[in-house]
Amino acid sequence: MAGSLDNFLHDPTDVGALGEEERKEFEEWVSKILSNPETISSMVEKALHDGMQSEWEEDSLGHKFKLGSYYPSLIERCLRLQAYSYLYPEPPSKEELAIFREGSAIHEIIALSLRRSGLVSVEGSEVVVDLVFNEEAKLHGRIDDLLLIRLSGESNSNFKLFVPLEIKSAQSLPDEPKPSHYYQLSTYLLAKKFPMGVLLYWAKRGGGVKAYPISRDDVMYSVLRERVFELHEALKRNDFPQKEAALNHDYFQCEHCGYLERCNPFLINSVSHGSKIALFDIDSTLLDPLPRRKAALRELGLPSTMRPSDIDNEETRETFWDLFNSPKFVELDTLIEQGRAKVYEQIELGRVPVGISSSRHDVLVEATRARLANLGISLANLILRENGNYDTDLRFKLKWALRLETNYTVSEYFDRDATTCSMVLKSISEVREKKSAKAGKA
Ligand code: SF4
Repeated sequence: MAGSLDNFLHDPTDVGALGEEERKEFEEWVSKILSNPETISSMVEKALHDGMQSEWEEDSLGHKFKLGSYYPSLIERCLRLQAYSYLYPEPPSKEELAIFREGSAIHEIIALSLRRSGLVSVEGSEVVVDLVFNEEAKLHGRIDDLLLIRLSGESNSNFKLFVPLEIKSAQSLPDEPKPSHYYQLSTYLLAKKFPMGVLLYWAKRGGGVKAYPISRDDVMYSVLRERVFELHEALKRNDFPQKEAALNHDYFQCEHCGYLERCNPFLINSVSHGSKIALFDIDSTLLDPLPRRKAALRELGLPSTMRPSDIDNEETRETFWDLFNSPKFVELDTLIEQGRAKVYEQIELGRVPVGISSSRHDVLVEATRARLANLGISLANLILRENGNYDTDLRFKLKWALRLETNYTVSEYFDRDATTCSMVLKSISEVREKKSAKAGKA
């Protein structure tokens, strides 16, 4: 480009064409830049960031929230999260901006390649679609690409089919379509009565591609309608829908939610903010599950002294765990007397007792609560392992202690395992130190 720095530096005729004084001035200017080259690299970084930000702003202009019009791409996510994202849209972080731009670039590459292939034709991109449920509420989105497919070699080669294509870039290829993507594409299929669509994943790491065919499922219409109505009714009342992810114990979604602080999903309804808590590991300080384990082994005809890890047959091992985790056996758990005494002691000290267990599945919440109540122990809340959580025992307890500490003071932690106990207490005190250091600075 004429007049660019590159021209000045590498084209002697340009520099030579300058007058004496102008050349001197130019050389001074260049040496000034070279004495601080970071000015240029930061300018490039800033230009890139500003460009991406402006593209995002332009794109979000078309996404201004209108009551009654909801996004298919969000509809599977936590209802409370959706409400926050409509009412309190957050500007994207630098990382999110880069992901957004990367996604659009990948989309462009894919559309271009499909066009060049000659196998399918791309009939439209960003095709606007509405799935209307009533005069008040609808899902409103845009199909990434609308393909027109002709299959040669068939008896009637004139037949053509429109197939919506939804493109998703991910770090790695998923083993199956993600539920939120399935909901999104289902919306388009239902809205336009397309019999099928394709969900295409592009792996940013490794560059693999995987396309999943998705058939229209008419049952999805009522699933989507129920979700839209629940969200819409709450927003219409100037209210919020339920904290769905937290209620379903989908804490993974909460941990990755941009509204975690605003939502505060770890506040226990029955325990007021700021209370002092005494946390008890249920299975080592309050209840002994050994009789339950023995009963499950006996039911399978195995010696009651056997360790579950020693069950060779995989199917039998699975049946053992199903039995062990079935509510009917929980009443066999026996009381650890010192634990009960400790609970009363803590209540006397003004602390609210809360139970935690990484080895009990949350299907056992009610049965465990009932068993404890029968044994004279009433806990304000029970935190049991949710489905799909594979954290180690220590990680599970650490995470929860810190989650509780965001609303409460975890004053005591009881666990037969001394290492777990000291790690939990140490992490809590580190968090407190950080908090007070931050408060001191403010
Ligand atoms: S923190 Fe959890 S419950 Fe709250 S809005 Fe986010 S995902 Fe939903």
